[in-house]
Amino acid sequence: KLIRRLGYERVRPIGRGQHGLCYLVNEHNEGKAQSGKGKFRGPFVAKLVDLGLLPENDRKMAYQEVELLERLQHDYIVGYRDSRLDSERDVLVTVMEFCEGGDLKELINQVAAQDLYLAEEQIMRWFVQLAQALAYLHSNRVLHRDLKTSNIFMTSDRQTAKIGDFGISRVLEGALDFAATTVGTPYYMSPEVCQNSPYSFKSDVWSLGCVLYELCMLKHAFDANSLLGLVYKIVSGSSPPIPPFYSKDLSTLIDKMLAKDAADRLTIDEVLGSPFVKDYLRVAA
Ligand code: ADP
Ligand code: MG
Repeated sequence: KLIRRLGYERVRPIGRGQHGLCYLVNEHNEGKAQSGKGKFRGPFVAKLVDLGLLPENDRKMAYQEVELLERLQHDYIVGYRDSRLDSERDVLVTVMEFCEGGDLKELINQVAAQDLYLAEEQIMRWFVQLAQALAYLHSNRVLHRDLKTSNIFMTSDRQTAKIGDFGISRVLEGALDFAATTVGTPYYMSPEVCQNSPYSFKSDVWSLGCVLYELCMLKHAFDANSLLGLVYKIVSGSSPPIPPFYSKDLSTLIDKMLAKDAADRLTIDEVLGSPFVKDYLRVAA
């Protein structure tokens, strides 16, 4: 088994995604634990992605990308621990930190099902963490490209949110054509990307703005019954205002992150530099 050869043993499957399978694993090889590779203790998540669809050349590229992403370590990014390409079977295995708190999409659904809303302080605590993680990626000239609530994970106490899954999604996005990777509905796609402009740093800010809106409304910022309807709303529609018990500062921040014209939209550094966000940064520190 691939996982075993990497020095881990399977505990149980935790889910099936768009591109592969995830397993909960434990470190198998004691010697490896002392080699100082990575700073995380078990259990971990091993994600197996079938690269069979990729053209020959892109497989190597995919692995090189994952190596680059392994170097990007941040408190609010799901920690990458190990990855290996099995060239015989065309399977890429990525071992990462296990986030026991589940993903933000599940959490939002749970809160909505109870007819509750999240407190502004809670929303902002997660938001400043995610904004710092995104600023870190951008300062390393890395685009996430697939920020969404199902790619944001939480620690067991649900006090810390971490951006996950960017490695693999970024690799696949670059290597496969658009139609093949866009299996889900592109709720978080920016207006400029809808209009065929290249994906940019501001497109990530848009997506994070959609996440922030969703934390407040417990609904997608842009939603429709068809892809065409969704694109129309993203490009020229406005979202219903967030509930009145949230502050004016918060709704203004969302508006500035969801500016249709990327030139009017805040950069992630501008987001972190705004007085409202800075206050929460200070509390977090
Ligand atoms: P998707 O294509 O939907 O992103 P993934 O393969 O990334 O699917 O993940 C499959 C399942 O495993 C999802 O339910 C996801 O929430 C969970 N998962 C993935 N990575 C982690 C992690 N690091 N910690 C906890 N759960 C994870
Ligand atoms: Mg995922």
